[in-house]
Amino acid sequence: MQNARDAAHSHKSRRHDEAHALAVELARVPLDERLRRAAELGRAVFTTSLGLEDQVLTAAIARSGAAIAVKTLETGRLFPETVELIGVTRQRYGIELEEVHPAEADVQAFVNAYGLNGFYESVEARHACCDARKMKPLAIALASADVWITGIRRGQSQNRADTPLAEYDPVRDLIKINPLADYDLETLKDLVAIEDIPVNPLHARGFPSIGCEPCTRAIKPGEPERAGRWWWENDEKRECGLHVPSAASPIKTEAGKAH
Ligand code: SF4
Repeated sequence: MQNARDAAHSHKSRRHDEAHALAVELARVPLDERLRRAAELGRAVFTTSLGLEDQVLTAAIARSGAAIAVKTLETGRLFPETVELIGVTRQRYGIELEEVHPAEADVQAFVNAYGLNGFYESVEARHACCDARKMKPLAIALASADVWITGIRRGQSQNRADTPLAEYDPVRDLIKINPLADYDLETLKDLVAIEDIPVNPLHARGFPSIGCEPCTRAIKPGEPERAGRWWWENDEKRECGLHVPSAASPIKTEAGKAH
């Protein structure tokens, strides 16, 4: 028993070290190279929510030719604009962009227990809905992945301020790469304009961060980027659980500059 515990501990410690070294390496190279390096590490999956960051990453994946599967969690509660963007993006970049849907039985169980929009009533209900519509589908999306790529950035919220370029996810036992962690929003907007990347029209209507329709509102000037997500909850609870911080140490590039 002790031996099994020691082996598990040393496996995790080795993987943390691996991720730390990778983050140092990625900090020195531009975006396309970050993606190619990610694909070299094994089966790589990028989960996109079709937000501005994710659209920049999808364009970069298509451009770089890196072998990365692109998947989205189609929760069944997305904005129509987001659903439309899935098709537009497929067409524009000629990629598969797989939709992963929640299991009907899980959604029904949630609705039976809490009601369709029961997530407004309690944190427990909200987590149950996110579990059925996001967490379980995410597990399916990542089932065969060695590497998970995300579009999260340090500037999106206080919760994400220490996001490393690469980290070990001990829950899923994979390497998570956040190639845009050190980018700022203005740089990404410039890339969208220069490359004519298709983005969600809701961004122009005050939605910098877009999730499910009933759980996202536009933000007011001066509010943090993710203030419109689950706005009725406390700040520290405003995550759906997809991006639970791991214990990996963040590696920041000089002054958090974008590459
Ligand atoms: Fe349900 Fe809202 Fe979570 Fe979407 S964001 S899964 S609608 S609680």
